[in-house]
Amino acid sequence: MTKRRSGTTVTGPCRFPGCDRRRQPTTAHGHTAYCDLPEHNHDTAYRARKKAAALAERQELQRELQRLREIVKSAGLSIDAPRSQQVA
Ligand SMILES: [Zn+2]
Repeated sequence: MTKRRSGTTVTGPCRFPGCDRRRQPTTAHGHTAYCDLPEHNHDTAYRARKKAAALAERQELQRELQRLREIVKSAGLSIDAPRSQQVA
């Protein structure tokens, strides 16, 4: 790992979630943390990260719901069936 002291060249992958393209080189307007795709910028990356976080949270909730369903099922009960079906 080498660190450059100049601070003028910012290299590395694009910071857009899931993008592994190279960052654009530093321009006169300043450095960028994103690649040359116009849709990869601070705003879209922020939205993509929020969306990914919301999706991950939903998947976590679904896993938790599945886990609870297994527990309920193992107890011989059901949380999905209407009450009328549980009457023997
Ligand atoms: Zn990118």
